[in-house]
Amino acid sequence: MSPNNILVINCGSSSLKFALVNPNQNEFAISGLAERLNSPHAMITWKQGSDKNSLLIPDGDHKDALSQIMPYVQEVCQGNLDGIGHRVVHGGTHFTAPHKITPDVLSEIERISPLAPLHNPAALQGIHAALEVYPDLLQVVVFDTAFHQTMPEHAFRYCLPEKYYVENNIRRYGFHGTSHRYVSRQTAKFLNLDIGDSHWLSAHLGNGCSTCAISNGQSLDTSMGLTPQEGLCMGTRSGDVDPGLFGHLIRTLNMTSNEIDDLLAKQSGLLGLSGLSNDMRTLEAARERGHKEATIAIEVFCYRLAKSLASMACALPRIDGLIFTGGIGENSPLVRGRTVSWLKLFGFDMDSEANAKFVGGKTGLISTANSTPIIVTPTNEERQIALDTLLFLEDKQ
Ligand code: ADP
Repeated sequence: MSPNNILVINCGSSSLKFALVNPNQNEFAISGLAERLNSPHAMITWKQGSDKNSLLIPDGDHKDALSQIMPYVQEVCQGNLDGIGHRVVHGGTHFTAPHKITPDVLSEIERISPLAPLHNPAALQGIHAALEVYPDLLQVVVFDTAFHQTMPEHAFRYCLPEKYYVENNIRRYGFHGTSHRYVSRQTAKFLNLDIGDSHWLSAHLGNGCSTCAISNGQSLDTSMGLTPQEGLCMGTRSGDVDPGLFGHLIRTLNMTSNEIDDLLAKQSGLLGLSGLSNDMRTLEAARERGHKEATIAIEVFCYRLAKSLASMACALPRIDGLIFTGGIGENSPLVRGRTVSWLKLFGFDMDSEANAKFVGGKTGLISTANSTPIIVTPTNEERQIALDTLLFLEDKQ
């Protein structure tokens, strides 16, 4: 295997997702997931070429998972691992770009943790585990929020008294930055445009969903805010609700803040609306059978997405293209078609044949010749993290 092998790690509180990325190759040579960590049912599943494997590691933690995985990773890259790239959700206002890991960087991630109490401590666990296993290897952190640090103040401030911003860092941060950055660059290349002189609307639609306005390679606005709760209807997240809802639920249903958090983050969105599933495939199949709630869930999802894209357009001087990405964006002609049907005013016109064709990880133009371009561009956050990590390797040489 040629050099430039980067292991990309993405940790949750009880999980560790990994992929060995070589930017010269399209497929990951090995990738997998350790889940239910710190429980008797901890296990690792991984794919190496066309082989699928699994291993139980009862009560194993992040470090145990990594220690089990590493021999396979090293075997695949013949001992030539060049670095590790870690995904970290929240970089606050401090991190505007990827960083090489140093003790100062780790302290800063820890300091920001109250902004992402579930995610940042989990990422730190993964980083500490990787540092223990490979103390001398280049390790880099790439933040979901960093790309959005170019948002102007009129886009990132909430209409709250200033002291909450100044004293408590309450402002809009945005997430999915690695994906929006990656797909905007890929799409500019695909359409032969210079990323430094181009303007995009981007819709990342996975379990979490967000839109972004990208101008000359910089994020000018995005739909997620202080937390990934703001904005679109998502798999299980409500997205925007009336802020008056919180007080109303407390007063009328006696709900606690934890119950409200759980309601809005885990029981709402597509799952809540349909009463069936958070999975768009299941909802599309149910809609085909005439399931009323699944049908309305998809309609709400698409209408709210269109409204968000329309509002993002305010940030741009012109629109060179609308990008669909993420599991739903890359695979659902239905969602793409329903969403674009609300955006005729912006000059978007779908080519339904092309829309049906570009699924399953294909990049393609799905609009008619007269339309503002609409493009399906598969995201690849692992690849972007590997590319970011490699830049530090090149710096070193
Ligand atoms: P995550 O945010 O967890 O990375 P993904 O980007 O994989 O999620 O997206 C998951 C979503 O993509 C799910 O709602 C899933 O139903 C949807 N999806 C995947 N394939 C299809 C498909 N063929 N048609 C419609 N939706 C799809």
